[in-house]
Amino acid sequence: MLLTVKTKLITTKEQHDSLLKTMEKFNEACNFVSIFAFNTKVFGKIGIQKELYYEIREKYGLSAQMTVRAVGKVAESYKVDKKTLHDFDLHGATVYDQRILSYKSADTISILTLDGRIEVGIQYGEYRKLEANRVRGQADLIYIKGTFYLMIVVDLPDAEPIDSDGVLGVDLGIVNLAVTSDGKVYSGDKCTKVRKRYAKIKAVLQSVGTYSAKKHLKKISGRERRFKKDTNHCISKEIVNTAKDTNRSIALEDISGIKENVTVSKAVRESIGKWAFFELRNFIEYKSKLLGVLVVAVDPRNTSRACSVCGYTDKKNRKNQASFVCLECGHAENADFNAAKNIMLRAVVNLPNVLCLGN
Ligand SMILES: [Zn+2]
Repeated sequence: MLLTVKTKLITTKEQHDSLLKTMEKFNEACNFVSIFAFNTKVFGKIGIQKELYYEIREKYGLSAQMTVRAVGKVAESYKVDKKTLHDFDLHGATVYDQRILSYKSADTISILTLDGRIEVGIQYGEYRKLEANRVRGQADLIYIKGTFYLMIVVDLPDAEPIDSDGVLGVDLGIVNLAVTSDGKVYSGDKCTKVRKRYAKIKAVLQSVGTYSAKKHLKKISGRERRFKKDTNHCISKEIVNTAKDTNRSIALEDISGIKENVTVSKAVRESIGKWAFFELRNFIEYKSKLLGVLVVAVDPRNTSRACSVCGYTDKKNRKNQASFVCLECGHAENADFNAAKNIMLRAVVNLPNVLCLGN
């Protein structure tokens, strides 16, 4: 499985400054290229290179390959939208490839800067233990809160699937990001608070509308996205580890038949962003694959309306967002917990004939 891994660079002060200077020049060059491309409507890599190659190298002191990469970054960006002038953050990603970045050992890279090549230590984080084969090709250097990270594409072998004896049902949602059939609740409260806080700041910045306000807005959006991503990483990791440690498979609702934009109501979608929901699901799936945990998808119909004790299904069983009370047997509990148990039960009934995700 191909995966982009964020690896931290361990830099000295001098190396840090060197990389930062390189990053700034790289993006200054991107802005220079961007203005040219937008004004002349020459958006192709080759066309831009023909016109600007020598000028970029001289003006920004970039190496031949870095110049090509800067042009490439701008050309890629305009592929998506040619109607507005693209502005590149000076601390935006610097694009590297095997000509300007190489691996000296498992923990050391040699990376090109304006001061020449430097050797820097890297930290793989949670993938260190895994047998990762790096895939040659592009790697983005990014800068977050004073630290450099390299986004490396690696090819990770899937783990041997473990023989499971049991299923952990997981209900994904918005109010509760995830609830397991063990009763573990991953609340969305903190996400909601953070989102509301950012929404306020965003509204103010939008109304200001100046160039610097727009820049600030972009930064805020990035911060919010990273917060959600971190949250999803933590939750998915815990869920997958729980399944692995207890020798169980994971059951999720099958959403393959549902279009991404109709699974949640419009209001909900706007409030949290549908991608956050799909991202969590995605993380659970790939982390499972890496650890050999089987993920099964079950029929999603009525998981929130059926009673997990007697099976009686009625829309009215669900009193409100939070509570479930069975009109038949009186069984009462948290609605998402009840749904998670239904998801688990459906997988248990159907194993091993359920659909395996990712196959
Ligand atoms: Zn019941």
